[in-house]
Amino acid sequence: MKDQIKQWLQQGKVDIFLGYKMVEGHPLPHFFVKDRLYEVDELVTGPIRYPLEKLAIRLAAEDPEVKIGLLVRDCNRRALNVLFLWHQLNPDNVMSIPVNCCPSNLADQANCSLLKPEKAGPYKEMVGIDNNISIEEAKGFDQEERLRRWTYEFDKCIKCYGCRDACPVCFCKECSLEHHALVKTGDLPVDIPIFHLVRAVHMAGRCIDCGLCEEACPMDIPLRLLYKMVNQIVLNVFKYNPGIDSVQSPFNMLGDEVTLEPKGLNAA
Ligand code: SF4
Ligand code: SF4
Ligand code: SF4
Repeated sequence: MKDQIKQWLQQGKVDIFLGYKMVEGHPLPHFFVKDRLYEVDELVTGPIRYPLEKLAIRLAAEDPEVKIGLLVRDCNRRALNVLFLWHQLNPDNVMSIPVNCCPSNLADQANCSLLKPEKAGPYKEMVGIDNNISIEEAKGFDQEERLRRWTYEFDKCIKCYGCRDACPVCFCKECSLEHHALVKTGDLPVDIPIFHLVRAVHMAGRCIDCGLCEEACPMDIPLRLLYKMVNQIVLNVFKYNPGIDSVQSPFNMLGDEVTLEPKGLNAA
C-alpha cells in the first residue's frame, strides 16, 4: 500500500494522499505529498474512522483540478458515491485505496463492526430511546409516545454541531442549522424539534449510515436511528439507497412501478 501511494505521488497521479499518521500517540488525518515522500512510511491504518472525504471536498473546493488519493473503508466508499452524485467531487480526480474493514458490504451497512452496537436494554422502560433499537422496535411506540421519547432525546442536545461537522455528506457552504430564518439560532435550548428535523430531512436520500454523527454526539442522541427512518421513506418511495453506487440518482427514481404512497411516513 505504501509503495502504491509513493508511486502515485511520484508519478503525479495524485497531488495529495489523505490518510492517517500517528501524532503523539494518536492517529490523526494527514496530507501526504510528494515533497515529503518519506512520511508515507509513517502512514497507519487500523480501526480509525474519520470522514477523509470531507477533507477531499474542501481541497476540491479550493482547487477543482487537484487530484486526490485517499484510504477508503466501506462507509467512505458509500460517502464518495453520494458526493460524486452531488457533484462535490469529480470521480476522475479521486483515486482510492481500500482498507480492510469489517465484513459489511454496500447493501448491509448495519454489519459494521466498528459501530460496536451494544445489546438493547429494556428500552420500553426507558424515558428516551435506546440507541440500538431497530426501526421496527421504534415504530412499535404509538404516536404520542414517539413524540414524548424523541422530544426527550432532542432536549438533551447542546447544539455543538458535532453531528453535522462529522458527517461526510454535510457539505453545504451555508448551513440551515445556523440560519435564523429557518432555525431559531442563538443560545440553548436548541429549537425543538425543528433543529433535528431540518437535519433529518436533509439526510433523506443522502445519509450513508456510517454512524459518525452518533459517535460524535456528546449527548448520545440516537441520530443514526432517526436518519435510518427517513431513509426508509426514501427507499420506499424512490427505491433509492444512498451510496450504493455513483450512478443511481435520487432525482430520477420515480419509475412506474413505484408507488407514491409514502409507506413509512409515520415512522419517525
Ligand atoms: S450516519 Fe450520520 S454522519 Fe453518517 S452519513 Fe448519516 S447523518 Fe452523516
Ligand atoms: S445540516 Fe443540512 S444545511 Fe447543514 S450542512 Fe448538513 S445538509 Fe447542509
Ligand atoms: S452532536 Fe448531538 S448534541 Fe451536538 S448538535 Fe448534534 S445532536 Fe446536538
